[in-house]
Amino acid sequence: MKVCKFGGTSMASAQSILNVKSIIESDSERKYVVVSAPGKRFSSDIKITDMLYGAYEEKVETGSCRYKMAIIRERFVNLAKDLNLDIDMNKYIDEVEENILKSTSPDYAASRGEYLSAVIMSAVLGYDMVDAGDVIKFKHDGTFDSELTNDLVSKYKGTSKGIVFPGFYGRMPDKSIKTFTRGGSDFTGAIIARGVKAKVYENWTDVNGFLVTDPRLVDNPCHIEVLSYEELRELSYMGAGVLHPDSIFPVQIDKIPINIRNTFEPNHKGTFILHSTQGYNIPKVTGIAGRKGNTTISLKKAMMNSEIGFCRKVLSVLERNGLSVEHVPTGIDTMSIVLSDKGFKGLDENKLVDDIRGAVNPDHIEVTHSLALIAVVGHGMANSRGVAATLFTALYKAGVNVRMIDQGSSELNIIVGVEEKDYNASIKAIYNAFFN
Ligand code: ASP
Repeated sequence: MKVCKFGGTSMASAQSILNVKSIIESDSERKYVVVSAPGKRFSSDIKITDMLYGAYEEKVETGSCRYKMAIIRERFVNLAKDLNLDIDMNKYIDEVEENILKSTSPDYAASRGEYLSAVIMSAVLGYDMVDAGDVIKFKHDGTFDSELTNDLVSKYKGTSKGIVFPGFYGRMPDKSIKTFTRGGSDFTGAIIARGVKAKVYENWTDVNGFLVTDPRLVDNPCHIEVLSYEELRELSYMGAGVLHPDSIFPVQIDKIPINIRNTFEPNHKGTFILHSTQGYNIPKVTGIAGRKGNTTISLKKAMMNSEIGFCRKVLSVLERNGLSVEHVPTGIDTMSIVLSDKGFKGLDENKLVDDIRGAVNPDHIEVTHSLALIAVVGHGMANSRGVAATLFTALYKAGVNVRMIDQGSSELNIIVGVEEKDYNASIKAIYNAFFN
């Protein structure tokens, strides 16, 4: 059996929903369907999820959410009408509107796009619908309860009729709705795939899978046919946006392959994400991804290397300030800490520097913003000579100053830090060096 998750663009219009229907009906193993909320139909359109967050804000500000809900209502009513469904969407929307007025967090509102999408999709397919709140569970502390969820989902193993699940949310022990982070329907799909022991988790989106790098920066980058869970994690954490970065955790337990597919080009094989790519003809570099918006704290202290506990003390200060660390490249007398700019919002930077000074008394400390990180990822790099030379020669020839270098011990990635102004040129130079 296959689990198929359809993203927002696949659910955006009656026509795209009919594409989804024909994809599902073309393979009798496609019995488990997970849906996102309707997304954008054209580039200036607004996603239903964004409008639902807006409806919650409207109610917080004015005590009513009637303006935003009127737009949402029209969209769902028209969808049902265009698909000739005998469903009273107005009744559903009335209930959502009433409950948003009673709710105290935006999660209930945000989740309703997926819920209503599943109502529509189950009617289109003649499949049952199972509410995600009944099977996807969180613990009291708000973390995802993977084992309870897996027990509940596994009860649906072996369905003959077919089931549609809404993505993106589950329930807390107090029965309130909680959503995953944005894009979380991908994670729901992976949870269902694990629970029903699917032979493949098909993730249907609006592109033909992963490209080696961002097509906004490089013209027509090569397509990636196969990559490993580990490579995917590195690339999506660094900004390759096709799949939610957490999606591999549920499926890797049973080594279920993920296949990224395109609803609008269903004959394309897409990208396979596997436990291991051994035996495949893989290039040295699988992908190149990056993101701007990082900060570096650079410390210098003579004889730092022999001062026991130096790194721990610095990292403890960061922990106390609630800062999550991305990379910690070190030298003999130097230590750099790379963090995402996001964590710095609302933080007193001078106080942080004083705290670090108090903890380790460095000779020099400096905070620099606007660092871009670029990850060059690939199992093919392990034990292969010349990868670093190719990479750094390319950056040198492009006139880019490398501010930071970090290579993981498994040789799965090389991460370089460059100034944000050099980001686009760096990605292009690295891509051309390995792929042209
Ligand atoms: N609809 C949600 C979002 O826009 C979740 C998803 O589509 O995966 O983030």
